[in-house]
Amino acid sequence: MANSEVCEEAIAGLKKLLSENGELEGAAAAKLKQLTAELTGVDPIARIRAGFEHFKKENYEKNPALYEELAKTQTPKFLVFACSDSRVCPSHILNFQPGEAFMVRNIANMVPPYDQKKHSGMGAAIEYAVIHLKVENILVIGHSCCGGIKGLMSIPDDGTTHSDFIEEWVNICKTAKAKVQAEFKDLDFSEQCTHLEKEAVNISLGNLLTYPFVRDGVVKKTLSLKGGHYDFVKGSFELWNLDFNLSPALSV
Ligand SMILES: [Zn+2]
Repeated sequence: MANSEVCEEAIAGLKKLLSENGELEGAAAAKLKQLTAELTGVDPIARIRAGFEHFKKENYEKNPALYEELAKTQTPKFLVFACSDSRVCPSHILNFQPGEAFMVRNIANMVPPYDQKKHSGMGAAIEYAVIHLKVENILVIGHSCCGGIKGLMSIPDDGTTHSDFIEEWVNICKTAKAKVQAEFKDLDFSEQCTHLEKEAVNISLGNLLTYPFVRDGVVKKTLSLKGGHYDFVKGSFELWNLDFNLSPALSV
């Protein structure tokens, strides 16, 4: 089925569902929306508007030189992989300013190996950052209490999965899971997860080397690969290089 047909079919399906729920239209829908906003304390449209107004007043209008420069081009020095988790935004935890970091966020901050069909979205982001933007650093950041890592750790040994996408995705780092289970078999589940949060970063750093343009950059020393782990329980950040076994980790 062509992409446009899939899209049209999905829209038709949604229209059908909406018409079947016709009683929610009009006043009832407005009431429901108001109740939701009251219950959660957040009116999404007001929140988005207020957020942008705040950014524009406090940041955009106070830094005209920066935004004039960014209107012409971007020259970020970092390509950053971080988890989609709402608590770990790199712009907040590392204070990246607009124009500083090209970012990819996904479940459990994973980099899959080079695969033009299966992972073209990921390949496109890495290719663009490395070849066109010429970033000098790639940083993969894992984090504490990562749900994706817990999910990977929870996949049974027989490999049975129950989700449409999540387990297939996090299985990218299943070799890290095997390593943690072998090396830390006496630790409890949550401690194993903490080790896996870091080992999975190392698998991603290794997977980055399957992209020829990344490998070239590392060989020519125009590109350096770094791993990080943000612990939001302790409020700490650990940073290590690709050759993590050789150089001591830097703790902040
Ligand atoms: Zn996560």
